[in-house]
Amino acid sequence: MNQSYEKLQKYMEKGVALVHAMGLFGWDAETLAPEKSLEKTAKTVGILSSEYFASLVNPEVKELLKELKEAEDLNEVEKAVVKKMAEDVRDLEMIPPEEFQAYNELTTRSTAVWAKARENNDFASFCPVLKEIIAYQKKFAGYAAKEGQKKYDALLENYEKGFGMEQLDQFFGKLKEEIVPLLKEVSKKNDTIDKSMIFKEYPVEKQKEFCAFLAEYIGFEKEKGTIAESAHPFTIGFHNDDVRITNHFLLQNLESAIFSVIHEGGHGIYEMGVRDDITQTCVGGGASCGMHESQSRLFENIIGRSKAFWSPLYGKLQQMYLQQLGDVSLDAFYHAINKAQASLIRTEADELTYCLHIMVRYEAEKKIIEEDYPVEELPKLWNQLYEEYLGVVPPTDTEGILQDIHWAQGSFGYFPSYALGNAFASQIYHQMEKDLDMETLLHEGNFAVIDEYLREHIHQYGASRSTNRLLHDLTGEDFNPDYYVNYLKNKYKEIYQL
Ligand code: ZN
Repeated sequence: MNQSYEKLQKYMEKGVALVHAMGLFGWDAETLAPEKSLEKTAKTVGILSSEYFASLVNPEVKELLKELKEAEDLNEVEKAVVKKMAEDVRDLEMIPPEEFQAYNELTTRSTAVWAKARENNDFASFCPVLKEIIAYQKKFAGYAAKEGQKKYDALLENYEKGFGMEQLDQFFGKLKEEIVPLLKEVSKKNDTIDKSMIFKEYPVEKQKEFCAFLAEYIGFEKEKGTIAESAHPFTIGFHNDDVRITNHFLLQNLESAIFSVIHEGGHGIYEMGVRDDITQTCVGGGASCGMHESQSRLFENIIGRSKAFWSPLYGKLQQMYLQQLGDVSLDAFYHAINKAQASLIRTEADELTYCLHIMVRYEAEKKIIEEDYPVEELPKLWNQLYEEYLGVVPPTDTEGILQDIHWAQGSFGYFPSYALGNAFASQIYHQMEKDLDMETLLHEGNFAVIDEYLREHIHQYGASRSTNRLLHDLTGEDFNPDYYVNYLKNKYKEIYQL
């Protein structure tokens, strides 16, 4: 092994170990930590976090990274590690420490201000804090931007490399052209699908049992994975032998927990599939936010909401809830879980309308970062965009611009990854259908073959290969949003008989 790399590896492994430790505290805070523990535990996490900073930003690491930049005797994973560490160091160093500190204090405070504003439907009280956050974001984007790069492009790069406004304008342009009119057609026939059985009472203990069964059914391995409960379901992977997901159960909603566990299970299976020589490195996570989301959405929507998936499973669910589902056919259940309807809240949106919620945020962020759009006017802009794309107008800011925590946390440029994830999933699935007999595999519940395919082409590489490269190597072409648009059109035209 290259001697400089060997030295660098020690720093990298220390950084990974500290991220592991901080992650465990994060997991604990969301699941089992007592309410009062947070403030004092924050001190511990603060110390770990400054250790992490020091493990990356120091003269020796800098020197080693410089030496290794041109080294020719590194293997693919080592090269990826060097590249990722150089990027991380650059990101950490770019912002002057005083600004970084002030910004962290601001975002710690701002989420509480946002939560209160949301509760009271009071955008005006959030507005000054949001202005400050936006000013910082623009400043940071200026630091991060390469020569000639636009600020919003620099922010988008943080989450999805290779996907700037040029690609996203094209992507969302296509959605606007094809999906907005499709939703109008679907809306006219909304009464044709009955979804009321989903909202009967479904005792939670049985839901838990069924969800645990489902997780294992799709390949979330019990020996390497844990399922806990939290207010909002999420996934965190520490390495390929320790992946944790959470779920949330509602008495009067059958689908919420079921599709959450399939979604988080998809994220989890990705993390479990990363190769042993990669999993405990700084490229041990997923290739990008969008690629990670592609795996969860592929499981949740493309697979999890298909009739083939439910054909071997529905009888079992029916048996568990005979009273509620005894007289509901598989076909009626399939239609119910795929009913599409314009709504106000992104996190509750169905598969068809979800991307339109993201489009609203993308257009708003572009105006905020690139056009200095007045922050006071944002609720009006938000409502206009909802009316234009979804045909609904939020009656309150609580159900409108105040619904997401992202801006309060300073996450600008994050939202598009969610929509891209759906689109990557469709492109990947199109290829899977060529290579595998998906229909039969799903009827048989044969997830060993499905998971192995995803592991071979995507999961094993972690973040050592880029999203664009993985997509290209698997499908033979660059990102192509047509697969997503066609998937949605075919599916909903069939369901609504358009
Ligand atoms: Zn997700």
